[in-house]
Amino acid sequence: MPKDLINLKSDAMNPPTAAMWQAMQDAQQGWVLDRQDPNVLELEAAAAALTGKEDALFLPTGRVACLVAVMTYCGRGTQIVLEQFSHIAWCQEWNFAHIAGAFPKPIPGHRGVLPPEAIVEAIVEARFGHRPKTSLVCLENTHNMAGGVCLTAEATNSACEAAHAHGVPVLLDGARLLYAAAALETPPSKLAASPDVVMFSLTKGLSAPAGAMLCGPRDAMAEAWENARRLGVASLQFAGAMAAAGLVALRTMQGCLVDDIRHARELGDRLNDIPGVRVDLDSLQTNIVMADITGLGVSAGAFLKSIYERGIWAHRLSENVLRFITHPGVNGEDIGIAVDAVAAVARDMPSKADSRA
Ligand SMILES: *Cc1c(COP(=O)(O)O)cnc(C)c1O
Repeated sequence: MPKDLINLKSDAMNPPTAAMWQAMQDAQQGWVLDRQDPNVLELEAAAAALTGKEDALFLPTGRVACLVAVMTYCGRGTQIVLEQFSHIAWCQEWNFAHIAGAFPKPIPGHRGVLPPEAIVEAIVEARFGHRPKTSLVCLENTHNMAGGVCLTAEATNSACEAAHAHGVPVLLDGARLLYAAAALETPPSKLAASPDVVMFSLTKGLSAPAGAMLCGPRDAMAEAWENARRLGVASLQFAGAMAAAGLVALRTMQGCLVDDIRHARELGDRLNDIPGVRVDLDSLQTNIVMADITGLGVSAGAFLKSIYERGIWAHRLSENVLRFITHPGVNGEDIGIAVDAVAAVARDMPSKADSRA
């Protein structure tokens, strides 16, 4: 990524802070495979406390953490009930199908939130008397594709009650759980109270060099660690240093997340004022801004290319929708520059209609 490019594409690419590099240099390395590295153990204890769970595991990526959770909770041929546009559905269904033999049961949510009745229906639905066993329900907080929408503690509890009433455990994909906690002004432990197992990322918005935490009951985490070993992801030899940086991330970065949310709100409000650009301000609750440019009559790809030439890097979500994400690597001044670039391109770009003429 060129140095002066303003990165609004991803909140997972920030380099570690100076304090994190220092912690990595100072970290004493321990034996990772037997869970004896001091920094990893300290980070796991901190993550368990943060989410109110008995135990936690430090794993290399959020996807691996979710996969390990699926391996731990889901037998072959069982179904996983999940929201149709959840990250685990669009990024991982083929990986858990391949490795764990479980299959997805996608159901539509409202702004990413699964109605409890729909969860129950998916669990009890019988076809000619046959009913696949549901082994897991997945929730996502914040919901990425819905635009960073928060799942409140109440909505989480209702979804979990519905699943638990039928004996089905719940995985919370909380890659950005700490953004939800900041936006809702609710402790993460409250948002994670009713799901059985929760993943949160150390890179999204937190600037740690790598890693995600899987938090849950002690026996399940012991089994999850065996599954991480089966996958070959338990022998991360430099884990102690990365965990030391992760600890600094938890101690120092959580307070910055409200700034990112404020920047996203400002970006969304100002983009929405540009003729032809529409931002769904109701779903703009955290650090993700979805901008629909249908009104400009140009493709998202062409538009992105033009703003990239002006130093703004965003993400193409679909033919008409761009996604902008704020994080500690962008400041208020960057937001102003981004808005100006989008406004200039929106004004100058020949629309599809014009270019056909
Ligand atoms: C980024 C993300 C993940 C995966 O995390 P990685 O560390 O990139 O594998 C999972 N769920 C959600 C909602 C995400 O945004």
